[in-house]
Amino acid sequence: MRGAAMAERGLRLAPYAVSAHNSQGRALAEAGPGLRGEFQRDRDRIVHSAAFRRLEYKTQVFVNHEGDMFRTRLTHSIEVAQIARSMARVLHLNEDLAESVALAHDLGHAPFGHAGQDALNDCMQQHGGFEHNLQSLRVVDELEERYADFNGLNLLYETREGILKHCSRSRAAELGALGQRFLQHRQPSLEAQLVNLADEIAYNNHDVDDGLRSGLITLEQLCEISLFRTQYDLVTSRYPDLQQRRVTHEVIRRMINRQVSDLVEASRQRITHSAPATLEDVRAASEPLVGFSAEMLELNRELKRFLRDALYQHYRVRRMSSKARQVIRSLYQAFIEDHRLLPDDYQVKVRQAADEGGVAGRARVVADYIAGMTDRYAIREFGRMFDPVQLT
Ligand code: MG
Repeated sequence: MRGAAMAERGLRLAPYAVSAHNSQGRALAEAGPGLRGEFQRDRDRIVHSAAFRRLEYKTQVFVNHEGDMFRTRLTHSIEVAQIARSMARVLHLNEDLAESVALAHDLGHAPFGHAGQDALNDCMQQHGGFEHNLQSLRVVDELEERYADFNGLNLLYETREGILKHCSRSRAAELGALGQRFLQHRQPSLEAQLVNLADEIAYNNHDVDDGLRSGLITLEQLCEISLFRTQYDLVTSRYPDLQQRRVTHEVIRRMINRQVSDLVEASRQRITHSAPATLEDVRAASEPLVGFSAEMLELNRELKRFLRDALYQHYRVRRMSSKARQVIRSLYQAFIEDHRLLPDDYQVKVRQAADEGGVAGRARVVADYIAGMTDRYAIREFGRMFDPVQLT
């Protein structure tokens, strides 16, 4: 009991953290969650959603079928949640909220990572574009069909706020209360700010790991990057005979540690300096209060530049992206030209959407259908649609 009581005290929330007391609640009021807290309920709804399960077969950098050892969007999201929870706890922020936002942040990602999103965005240019952040919100607000009383997951305002990381001003205007902060230059909760950077820490580090494993980038190249080099020297001088894979792992876990420690310390200083008394003070601040130190920001920039030039632009990644664009474009065009090629339930949705939103409404349903596909489903669908000898 004593241990539990101490753990409870250790989990106390800062007055400016999101809590049951200052939450703006759900769009549709519901009965209490019983044994769980409201924030846990959100996390659980996300974990049980269909979109969450599909993350297992969606690309992070490497297309899902390229190898079993690479990150997928699911393992990426779990790593983001782990990092976000650790930081939320030491900063006395709402861990459950941070976890929910982390697990949901990529729910709207199209198949084939950024190549898929860019292709779908190009296709949708005349109909409001396609943006994965907005699509994640669309998944939790409308597209999940699980509950008797509502579409979507009816999540708390603060979870939805965290999911909507970016948004153009024109789209923000259509989003009601949730879009206001983009128009008024207000900040989201500290939990949302924190997940945003946990995302960055997770992908920068696991892309180094996956990049090395794939052989597309090398240790020699990485040793030119300060963040990597510092930890590499430490590990190899302490363990001169260590096997290469373990060296990489030791270096990466130390890099994560260093970034997390820096983020916690720098954020603590900013919070102390700005001294918010309430969540409203956090939202009204002129800048985010969660952030890296200036030194770490520069080190991160160097690593990101390297990953962009050496890994994301590698010809083998580009070839995969180019194929992905073709798959998405072809499917989109075929479905737009003849919506009777869509599965029955989507044909019903197209008719409804066309009644309400005309051509743009119809295009949005096609985009929803494609965005919901996993990599392998999209590849199979492409085969079924365009390969004359393949049975449908
Ligand atoms: Mg992410």
